[in-house]
Amino acid sequence: MTNPKVAFYTLGCKVNQNETEALGALFKEHTYDVVDFVDKADIYIINTCTVTHLGDRKSRQVIRRAINTNPDAIIVVTGCYAQTSPGEVQKIPGVDLIIGTSDRAKIVELIEEYKRGKEPVTYVNDILKVKDFEELPVDRLINRTRAYLKVQEGCEQFCTYCIIPYARGPSRSRSIESTLKEAGKLIAAGFKELILTGIHLGAYGKDLAENIDLAYLCKTLLEKTSIQRLRLSSIEPTEITDELIELMKGNPRFCRHLHIPLQNGNDEILKYMHRPYTTRDYRFIIEKVRKKIPDIGITSDIMVGFPGETQEHFSDSLDFVKEMEFSGLHVFKYSPRKGTPASKFSNQVSSPEKEKRSKAMLELGKQGFTNFAQRYLDKIVDVLVETSWPQGGWEGHTDNYLKVVFKGETEKGEIVPVRLQSLEENYVIGELIKRRNYNY
Ligand code: SF4
Repeated sequence: MTNPKVAFYTLGCKVNQNETEALGALFKEHTYDVVDFVDKADIYIINTCTVTHLGDRKSRQVIRRAINTNPDAIIVVTGCYAQTSPGEVQKIPGVDLIIGTSDRAKIVELIEEYKRGKEPVTYVNDILKVKDFEELPVDRLINRTRAYLKVQEGCEQFCTYCIIPYARGPSRSRSIESTLKEAGKLIAAGFKELILTGIHLGAYGKDLAENIDLAYLCKTLLEKTSIQRLRLSSIEPTEITDELIELMKGNPRFCRHLHIPLQNGNDEILKYMHRPYTTRDYRFIIEKVRKKIPDIGITSDIMVGFPGETQEHFSDSLDFVKEMEFSGLHVFKYSPRKGTPASKFSNQVSSPEKEKRSKAMLELGKQGFTNFAQRYLDKIVDVLVETSWPQGGWEGHTDNYLKVVFKGETEKGEIVPVRLQSLEENYVIGELIKRRNYNY
């Protein structure tokens, strides 16, 4: 008898991708074979996204595609769109199970139960009342050198443009014990870098004992495991504590890289966005971090075209981003999300204007990368070898998050010294150095 086949499709963010990997591992444990989404499977799992209207539409398209590929298959819709709009998903004929953003550790059992009853079922809890961190056993594995380790779920910040607090519920944290256990497994499997992730990572520990926060978790991981690199995926400016900065400064295994979402460089817009800081606060924290850790790479997220953003506001944003000298920038065009306060704000910015602003911001992002990377030309840096480069050679990152491409004799998972030689648009070309007595 052959094993049942399951196929996955993931929409949206890295957290969703991590969760799909974890679900895949669960099915494998239960002797399912994981096949490609285009193949004929017995079960299709669509992990949906609702961060924009496009996310909703794409989620519906993918659900229909799965139903067409095998009308006899069990169709399971999970994730943020399933959580926020189960009614819309129920309307798609052929959907069998709807599981929101909780209860997913039980997904295999829920499917087995469905097979017995054959009645479409919706498992969508009132997410605003969910209190526990749901542990999924295996986190996302990137090229078997770097692994995402999810330690936090949910967000209570309610930025006015964001649907996530409604889809993911309040902040919940993975316990220190469970995180250490998972980290131990990943290290034993050969991973060299762990990337701590969460929906609102800086809120880690708020629901745990009083002395537990993100800095405490990082300190514990560095002390109690042999992980060679520990990285944070993203952290809000107001949540960068002195302890965290000191830890990063004092421990070479803690990557000198912070992704600190700014979203806008104008105080009025930040206020309308319900971001809990001003540009002055943001500048203060960046200066403090850079003073302590001069080689730190700081990347950020910027949103353009938020309702009411005038040309003047946007100029402020450009000036502030320039001043912050980010080494990388993710630029988002504001898109109204039904159910969020900002979708009802007047003065929505036109699409062509958003496009223009996005291009200008992206240019600044490129410039910021070039300025940062240039500081390292002719210097020797440590690179974690992550993948082979299609044109021959290797690709990896420095601890301060420069992407480096180089040639030479090495293998995946090694941390090797590379002399940086020249710049491309978003990476640096270097050469492998044999000796290991070098300085940054
Ligand atoms: S901090 Fe703001 S943008 Fe980030 S998930 Fe929470 S509400 Fe959304």
